[in-house]
Amino acid sequence: MIDFQHVTKKYTTNDKTITAVNDVNLVVQRGEIFGVIGFSGAGKSTLIRCVNLLERPTEGKILVNQKDLLTLSQKELRDVRRKIGMIFQHFNLLESKTVFHNVGFPLSLAGVPKQEIKRKVESLLEFVGLADKANHYPEQLSGGQKQRVGIARALATDPEILLCDEATSALDPQTTSSILDLLRKVREEYHITILMITHEMQVIKEICDKVAVMENGKVIEEGTIFDVFSNP
Ligand code: ADP
Ligand code: ADP
Repeated sequence: MIDFQHVTKKYTTNDKTITAVNDVNLVVQRGEIFGVIGFSGAGKSTLIRCVNLLERPTEGKILVNQKDLLTLSQKELRDVRRKIGMIFQHFNLLESKTVFHNVGFPLSLAGVPKQEIKRKVESLLEFVGLADKANHYPEQLSGGQKQRVGIARALATDPEILLCDEATSALDPQTTSSILDLLRKVREEYHITILMITHEMQVIKEICDKVAVMENGKVIEEGTIFDVFSNP
């Protein structure tokens, strides 16, 4: 589903070059929950940002559904982007819009008719357990509720891949568990592949099928949770 082949990303600022991601090879299978764990600065966000093309790798290839992201036409790129949803540590909701309009926003942008948006948003809010919050504004919600809105918005365009960037790092342990339960339900009901980055070991252990450990831009371990975290 996502195939990283020798992916390297270098940043150059003020004549200094740093290699944020260094020759990473990973395969994320369809339907997997795949976790990338590492300390701050390890290169995790850079790696995930290369998947939705917020960054472009300096070297190497990323295939999504066998398609090389770096050689797509503008139209193909738009199609692939629509298949990739993303959620964030700080939720990134639009504060001036209600929950309903936050979730419907990607659909409005895509020109989906109002009636269809209404149907879709209502069913997504039902799914994430916020049917009664449609007319609330983000500031009226708890952190966990905001992330539920983030998840509903990410699902609005029927993505095949959900990228999670430290999605539970701003939440307390109990809220984290409830969001992880919801992500499990997302995988089951929508058959979505989930790629998450986190610095929280507990999150990886609780939900991921596979894990890669990153350090200084490199993947230093990879395998099932059992492989990586049980000492021989
Ligand atoms: P992580 O997500 O694991 O914390 P990042 O991918 O954010 O790691 O960062 C990896 C390295 O790349 C760090 O040294 C960071 O300072 C650097 N870096 C990240 N983004 C940029 C950028 N836009 N410009 C320059 N350096 C960056
Ligand atoms: P605007 O504020 O831009 O006029 P509205 O709030 O009237 O937009 O809503 C635009 C569309 O979204 C309408 O079709 C409306 O029925 C629908 N809508 C807005 N809020 C809700 C909600 N809480 N539940 C169901 N449909 C909603």
